[in-house]
Amino acid sequence: MQFAEQEEADGVRMAWNVWPSTRIEASRGVIPVSALYTPRKNINGLQIVDYSPIICVGKTCGAALNPFCQIDYMNKIWVCPFCLVRNHFPHHYADISPDNLPAELISDFTTMEYVLPGDLGGPPVFVFVIDTCMIAEELQHIKDMVLKALNFLPPDSYVGLITFGKNTHVHELGFQECVKSFVFRGDPPKKKALTVQRVAELLGMTSDQSNRFLMAVSECEFIFSSILEDLTEDPWIVEPQHRPSRCTGVAVSVAIGLLESMYQGQSGRILLFAGGPPSTGPGQVIGTDLSEKIRSHRDVLKNNAPHYYNACQFYLDLSKRCAANGHIIDILACSLDQVGLAEMRVLVENTGGVLVLGTQSFSSPECTESLKKIFRQASNGDLEMSFGGVLQAITSRQFRVSGAIGPCLSLNHKGVSVSESEIGISGTSQWKLGGLTPQTTFAFYFDIVNTQRKDVVDDQAYLQFVTKFRQSNGTTNIRVTTLAIPFVDTTSQSGFRQLQSNFDQEASCVLMGRWVVFKTKDEFALDILRWLDRMLIRLVSKFASYTKDNPDSFQLSAEFSYFPPFMFYLRRSQFLQIFNSSPDETAFFRLTLLGETVANSLTMIQPTLLSYSWDFDGGQPVFLDTSSRDPAKILLLDTFFHIVVWRGEQIAEWQKQGIQDQPEYSHFAELLTRPNDEAKQLMEFRMPHPVVVYCDQGSSQARRMLAKLNPSESHAKYESIDDNAPPPVFTEDVSLEVFMQHLRRLAVQSQ
Ligand SMILES: [Zn+2]
Repeated sequence: MQFAEQEEADGVRMAWNVWPSTRIEASRGVIPVSALYTPRKNINGLQIVDYSPIICVGKTCGAALNPFCQIDYMNKIWVCPFCLVRNHFPHHYADISPDNLPAELISDFTTMEYVLPGDLGGPPVFVFVIDTCMIAEELQHIKDMVLKALNFLPPDSYVGLITFGKNTHVHELGFQECVKSFVFRGDPPKKKALTVQRVAELLGMTSDQSNRFLMAVSECEFIFSSILEDLTEDPWIVEPQHRPSRCTGVAVSVAIGLLESMYQGQSGRILLFAGGPPSTGPGQVIGTDLSEKIRSHRDVLKNNAPHYYNACQFYLDLSKRCAANGHIIDILACSLDQVGLAEMRVLVENTGGVLVLGTQSFSSPECTESLKKIFRQASNGDLEMSFGGVLQAITSRQFRVSGAIGPCLSLNHKGVSVSESEIGISGTSQWKLGGLTPQTTFAFYFDIVNTQRKDVVDDQAYLQFVTKFRQSNGTTNIRVTTLAIPFVDTTSQSGFRQLQSNFDQEASCVLMGRWVVFKTKDEFALDILRWLDRMLIRLVSKFASYTKDNPDSFQLSAEFSYFPPFMFYLRRSQFLQIFNSSPDETAFFRLTLLGETVANSLTMIQPTLLSYSWDFDGGQPVFLDTSSRDPAKILLLDTFFHIVVWRGEQIAEWQKQGIQDQPEYSHFAELLTRPNDEAKQLMEFRMPHPVVVYCDQGSSQARRMLAKLNPSESHAKYESIDDNAPPPVFTEDVSLEVFMQHLRRLAVQSQ
């Protein structure tokens, strides 16, 4: 499949792999020209060079030399395909000829990476910020995790330790005689904001003493470990009928200030371990009185969550500061109740961090394995994580960029590549990405600006992504991906057919999914559903073949046939149907979708279901439908967040009887292990680590499976906050079959 090949070579998947040649034609395609890009994708045979890219001198261009440049070998000149400026090659390219090309001009290297010479940053700094308002057992799990994490760190990396409860403690690591920490009030006077100057001043940091709080792990491992081991639950007595005072906002402010004062612009990462909601000081999401319940979706929508907007604004401001400093924030949260992720999510989203939401205990694999994966090593032994990512999208003149959706922030870089039409984080052609892994994926939406077909130069659009980031070993890398996308005249029959056959329905589903999730930030779910329904009807009525007003004649070609089911699952997914989740869970689901690869995002939108039986060796993909349940089969459901191994009644019964232990039934034992092996493989690279559930048909845990299966008959209407709001086009949570019937009927209707 050609789309997957391009993804392997460049880390790019596009909704349309040929583009309509004018703006009007593009609008008729319904789904915008758009792309998903994984800037640090592990690419087999990636060309890596140890010099800087040659950059076009064109005013406001910034494009790097690439295989699509026209070369005048005689005069040693290259013409930039983006701004058409003629550039002289530098002197050391004097020997250039068609037989002697530098790597960046070789047609296979549409993606390559430059390791900038001499640009070496210091070792990374890790600040652990630990909540102590929890039972001793849970605190012990966090201590164990953090102690283990120290082993994953490069010995020259720096560490810091901040703990918080009613107040925040910054622990001095350079003080060997006795344990010493600086205390910050959890509820500081409103006028005294914790600016970087104030944090530095309160910590008494002058240049000669500055290393007391952040030290090389090789130098302070002993004292760090002993402080951690001696750590106890927050000593402040919690009044009856109250929850503990937890000053998460102050703790995060202090961590950001500490890193900002000493390591601004260098590689830094804050790992926040939260066992409950911030309940005092700036950023509180709830009061300490237990009679106050934490906000629900309904409270937020009905403006009945008194702390919500202030807290969101507080964490947004912090996240922007942290991103500007080039530092990352991760949140590892675990609590039976909510911890305020709906408000704190921006800390992670805007800095490129990781959000982990455990539900049972910090000792669960979701927490421990996820922390391990944050510190995963690349094949060369360095940490896989990178820091300070910045991405620029450069476009040729026929189109502009409408915006990006993903864990990033606008850098407000105006220029010729920026469109007036806005999708996602718009009005810029540069974004701050913060932390990146080889999976982090961003969506970009474009706007064709040609009004007439003759404007199309060379019948190709050129698109370049230039991503700069710092590796954990200190080197600065620039990854450049350049693409040429053919234009077609979609008003002609052959052009229309070309457009049709170059539709990537998987990428399109993910691009629509991201757009939908982005819209939830300031639109109501019902409005978004209506918008999505109308879009789907327009798309299929444009690309299906049918006789007007005859639903039975409706046919959708293979390139489009999966798209309506994808939209069906997107509509009923946890990204849009929020009333079965808490605001924290919704924040967790949505944030995770915003940064994932195409394959992982698809699994989140339309979970996969494999069936295992005696008859086949491997798992067989089956419909995500209640009818796929069979007493003599094992099902493996993968929703990305959960992996459920479900055993049919018969299988469960045999297992209970211990048949698998009898030598003559060894093939039954094998059948039992196959889905477990598959589950292990799925878990290995998944971040955050999924919750794995093993259950038998009819058991209480089996609801995890049932909730994801397509209902055989209709039930539950969509819940509406505003009873007067018009319903979406498809009003009920119907089965896929009924959904498709409705869609066919609406698509063939005369307009
Ligand atoms: Zn240029």
